[in-house]
Amino acid sequence: MSAPKLKAPRGTFDVLGEQATMRATVEAKARAILEGAGYERIETPTLEATELFARGVGESTDIVQKEMYTLTDGGGRSLTLRPEGTAPVCRAYVEHGMHKRPQPVKLWYLSSFFRYERAQAGRYRQFWQVGAEALGSEDPAVDAESIVLLGTLLAELGVSVRLRISSLGSPDSRMAHRELLQTYLREHEASLSEEVKARIELNPLRAFDSDHEGTRAVMQSAPRLLDQLDEEDKAHFVEVCALLREADVAYEVDPSLVRGLDYYTRTVFEFTSDDLGAQSGVGGGGRYDGLIAQLGGPPTPGMGWAAGIERILLAGTPPAAGAAAPDVYVAWTDLKKPPQGGQGWPRGAVRTAAFGILREARSAGLTAQMELANRSLKGQLGQAAKMNARYVAIVGEQETVLKNMQGGGAQETMATDTVVHTVLRRLRDL
Ligand code: AMP
Repeated sequence: MSAPKLKAPRGTFDVLGEQATMRATVEAKARAILEGAGYERIETPTLEATELFARGVGESTDIVQKEMYTLTDGGGRSLTLRPEGTAPVCRAYVEHGMHKRPQPVKLWYLSSFFRYERAQAGRYRQFWQVGAEALGSEDPAVDAESIVLLGTLLAELGVSVRLRISSLGSPDSRMAHRELLQTYLREHEASLSEEVKARIELNPLRAFDSDHEGTRAVMQSAPRLLDQLDEEDKAHFVEVCALLREADVAYEVDPSLVRGLDYYTRTVFEFTSDDLGAQSGVGGGGRYDGLIAQLGGPPTPGMGWAAGIERILLAGTPPAAGAAAPDVYVAWTDLKKPPQGGQGWPRGAVRTAAFGILREARSAGLTAQMELANRSLKGQLGQAAKMNARYVAIVGEQETVLKNMQGGGAQETMATDTVVHTVLRRLRDL
C-alpha cells in the first residue's frame, strides 16, 4: 500500500518555475525604485510577540480578532506569525534606536505574511507583500513621495490601477466623528447588517466597508470624517493632494475609504485594479503618526504602504526573466546503464573528465550544465537545445567535440583540456 499524498495547506501554494522568475522581476523593480529613493532593505522575524499586533494593529480589527496564527512556544510565550509588516518595522525602529539617525528613516521589505482568511483567488493564508515605511517626518511630501513610488512600481509592472485617497485626521477629530457616527448608526440600526450592528461600539468605521445593501444605503448619508477634520489636518491633506497633482498622479478623493488596520491617522490611500474581480485591492497604506509611541517609542510620525505580490502578478504583466541559458552543456559518450540499487556507479575516465570541464567552466565564469540523466547522445543534444545552450562539449575517450548550437551546429574537435579556453575565446570574439 502506498503512503497517502500530502498537499500544501489550504490557502497556501508552492512558487514554481515562471512564477518564481516573475517574482524575481517584481523584487528587482521594487529594489531599483525604492533604493533609488533612499529606502533601505529590512528583514524582520517571521514570528513576533503576539502583543506587538494586539497593541500595534488594534484589538478591534479583523486581523487581531480572528485572522492571526498564534502559538505558544516551549517557553510559554505567545508568538504570532506576522500578519502585516508595519508594526514589526516600527518595533525594529524603536528597538534599534533609529530615531537617533537622520529622519526620516526609510525602510522597505518583501516578505511573506499570514492571515487565517477565507481562501479564494487573490486571497491566501500565506501571501507576500512588498512594503515601504518612512519614519520620522510628518511632511506631506513624505506622503506624496510614498504614494508616487508605489504608483511608479505598479505602472512599471504593467498593473493598471485607480488611486483613491482620503484623510482620517487626528485621534481627536476621529474620536469626535466616531461619536457622531455611532449616534447615526444607532438611529438607523434596523437597516444595518448584523455584523455592522455588532460593531457599532467597537469599530463603527467599518460600516463604510460593508457589502450589505441596507447598510450601504444608510452609509450614503452618514457623517463623513473628511468633513470634520481640524484645520491642521485639512491643510495637510490639501498639500498631499496638491503634490500628487504636481506629480501628474490621477486620484479620486473617497471619504468612505477605511482600511482594515487601526493605526492610521491623516492620509490613507488604496490602489485598486478592475482586472482583479472581488479582491480588487492591489496595495495601499497611509500615515500612522501614533503607532511608534503606542509601541513604547518616542512620539514619531510614520507613513507607509504594502502591496500584494500575488495581486500584482494577477493584474500585471511582469516579464519572466527566464532561466539562464548555459554557455556550455557538457555531454559525454561512455553511457552505461544506471546500476541497480545504487551500487557501483560507473566512473569511467570520460565521466570524470566531463565533471572536470563543468567545474573549470564555472570557475572561469561561464554558465555550465552537465548531463545528469544518462540520456542517449541524441537525447543529450535535444536537452541542450531545450535549455538554449550556446555550445555543447561532447566529451569522448580521446578528445572532445565542441558543437556551436547557435552557429548552424558547426563542430570542431579538440583536446579535452582546451575546451573551456576555446569557449571563452569564441564568446569573447562574438
Ligand atoms: P493590507 O495589509 O491589508 O493593507 O493589504 C495590503 C495589500 O496586501 C492588499 O492590497 C493586497 O494586495 C495584499 N493582501 C492583503 N491580504 C491578502 C491576502 N490574504 N492574500 C493575498 N494578498 C493579500
